[in-house]
Amino acid sequence: MKTVIIGGVAAGASAAARLRRLREDDEIVLLERGPYISFANCGLPYHLGGVIPDRESLLVMTPEHFSARFRVDVRVNHEVVAIDRTAKAVSVRGPDGAECRESYDKLLLATGSSPLVPPLPGVDHPRVFRLWTLPDLDRLMAAVESGARRALVIGGGFIGLETAENLARRGMAVTVVELFDQILPTMDREMTVPLVAEFSRLGVGLELGRKVLSFRPDAEGLAAVLDDSRELVADLVVMAVGVRPNSELANAAGLALGPRGHIVVDEALRTFDPDIHAAGDVVEVADPVLGGSTAIPLAGPANKQGRLAADAIAGRTVRYRGSYGAAVIQIGKLAAASVGTTERRLKAAGADFRKIYLHPASNASYYPGGARFHTKLLFSAEGKILGCQAVGAKGVDKRIDVVAAAMRAGVDARGLAELELAYAPPFNSAKDPVNLAGMIAANVLDSDSRVAQADALPEGAKLLDVREPDEFAEGTIPGAVNIPLESLRDRLTELNPATPITVFCQVGLRGYVAERILRQRGFDAFNLSGGYTTWKLHNPC
Ligand SMILES: Cc1cc2nc3c(=O)[nH]c(=O)nc-3n(C[C@H](O)[C@H](O)[C@H](O)COP(=O)(O)OP(=O)(O)OC[C@H]3O[C@@H](n4cnc5c(N)ncnc54)[C@H](O)[C@@H]3O)c2cc1C
Repeated sequence: MKTVIIGGVAAGASAAARLRRLREDDEIVLLERGPYISFANCGLPYHLGGVIPDRESLLVMTPEHFSARFRVDVRVNHEVVAIDRTAKAVSVRGPDGAECRESYDKLLLATGSSPLVPPLPGVDHPRVFRLWTLPDLDRLMAAVESGARRALVIGGGFIGLETAENLARRGMAVTVVELFDQILPTMDREMTVPLVAEFSRLGVGLELGRKVLSFRPDAEGLAAVLDDSRELVADLVVMAVGVRPNSELANAAGLALGPRGHIVVDEALRTFDPDIHAAGDVVEVADPVLGGSTAIPLAGPANKQGRLAADAIAGRTVRYRGSYGAAVIQIGKLAAASVGTTERRLKAAGADFRKIYLHPASNASYYPGGARFHTKLLFSAEGKILGCQAVGAKGVDKRIDVVAAAMRAGVDARGLAELELAYAPPFNSAKDPVNLAGMIAANVLDSDSRVAQADALPEGAKLLDVREPDEFAEGTIPGAVNIPLESLRDRLTELNPATPITVFCQVGLRGYVAERILRQRGFDAFNLSGGYTTWKLHNPC
């Protein structure tokens, strides 16, 4: 059998290697239009910043090494320009511009995605860069090393933020311009507040809620004209405003595409043509949270889909059950990670959901070196986990990975409380933050706790701060009165049983104890989820 694979990076290279391991005698041809296969695109921003000093280490496998190990016919600088499904052949343009045909029994489309380039006036100026491939990196590095001092990054998603931080590492003055009023759209706005502060600490400017209208050459560099008429002048601009799937070939071949241009595949990653599979950024996949389809342009899903597509091509029964979009990013000293959907998307979908916040310590409070981090868990009225986000200096990636694994395994929010997780003081507490999230969620689902939310404080409710007076003096929610938890039972007469009470403390724990006291004494009490700390995330000064 002869399999032709188009695209030689995450999904394509994974598929080629797996297919060879399964079928030693097959003919496998890997066609890649760029000069490299299997390079670490995720590492590009870190070479830019000098964190990965050796450019060659980004070349995970050279074509020669790959061919030698897997006996795959690897052809770089070979672009597939057409698919003839009837003849089962592809047209390939080689490095000399000449075209040839390559027949196939099975075809895998692993063509990935490309950065979106909005049609703005001046966007084709040579000082406007993108960061997607090694040649892109080389061009950007050359500009940085030729003395550029000021950079504008357009787009506040993963690639834009990583690029901004790494340009700042090179000593450049960097500003990120983002259309939305927040960075990192995989998180909800309040959860990105610590990242905004971290960028400020790093000296990176953020222009949020601002649109670039055009670029104009300026005597001192290139000026980006904003929608508020200001002009930001820089020596170079990096565009990172999102990606689009490279599905033109599939479209021309008559394969079905989804609403945003991704190739439609079944659970075996097969298009409606039984001899053509597709994997990676170019496909749409099942959305196990909201239902329907989604597109998750990330390396983990691409690699796994490549492997599964090879299994399917080799005749095995496979089932790709969709992507939850688990993702993580490092910004300065903080990490931000998420899985599943956001509150913003749940609201847009009109979904019924519950949310809780907690701000646990990464490890036992008595053990040095721990750090508090912020966590938000979203779940349905039945307890299905819909999403989780965390941001902080320590322990964030581990907790999101545990929740991601739980979601994949069908564990619900209550089930998080039961997960048995390895414990010792340097790593966590006997009740890991993931367990705590499950316990709080169970309290909410069982109505043991009725939570109020900082972004929608109940109208007419009395705000009761049950922290210590010194904490209260340092700052509280406007209008709150202070009765410390320890004296609450003795001062109940100061509260009106006819008025609803929203109790809060620093992170929600003392507030929960107070809520239980009050409710068992007949008061109409709610606990503010995540306490004053959550309120501060929603109301940063
Ligand atoms: C700077 C950067 C940082 C990233 N960081 C992360 C990260 O930290 N974590 C994460 O999960 N993901 C990250 N990603 C995303 C991740 O790299 C992609 O999701 C993943 O590479 C997608 O794999 P793929 O195989 O579908 O596509 P790609 O890896 O893009 O490979 C597709 C290949 O197909 C080739 N191709 C396209 N059309 C043709 C054609 N007609 N003929 C021949 N060849 C063709 C392309 O040249 C390309 O090399 C990052 C991406 C970038 C660019």
